Amino acid sequence: MDQQVKKVYVAQDGTAIVICEACGRTRKLVNIQENMPGKTVRVRCGCGAHFTILLERRRYYRKRVHLPGYYSKTSAPGEQPMVVKDISLGGLRFETLEEHELKKGDVVLVRFRLDDTARTAINRPVVVRFVGHQVVGAEYFKDDPIDKALGIYLLA
Ligand SMILES: [Zn+2]
Repeated sequence: MDQQVKKVYVAQDGTAIVICEACGRTRKLVNIQENMPGKTVRVRCGCGAHFTILLERRRYYRKRVHLPGYYSKTSAPGEQPMVVKDISLGGLRFETLEEHELKKGDVVLVRFRLDDTARTAINRPVVVRFVGHQVVGAEYFKDDPIDKALGIYLLA
């Protein structure tokens, strides 16, 4: 019988949640090694079903977007124009229209609107995790509640 390989995302802490399609039971895989993502694993469920999963490193689904907005450093006044290029439940990546002076660890306020029907306004602080030439990758704060609208937007 032909089996479908299901993608399973590995969290930062080296765990992954596997759902058995036969019985619906969930199982948590722990201690997934650094070299495991990209590999397939055979899983046997308590119900007797076997299946194959593909471990993926990516933590969150990223949606590619083009959403113009503004960013500002919390430590300095003034907003700068930017364009959000991709967005996930964990963070976002934006391009600045001009050279930026952001550094890893900087806290930045981002302000833009989703292109959903409600044009939901996103206005939140993020932590800079990656900087490139006019490109910035940032994460939300851990205890920041995930906007419901953003969750729906990413699933659409
Ligand atoms: Zn099962």
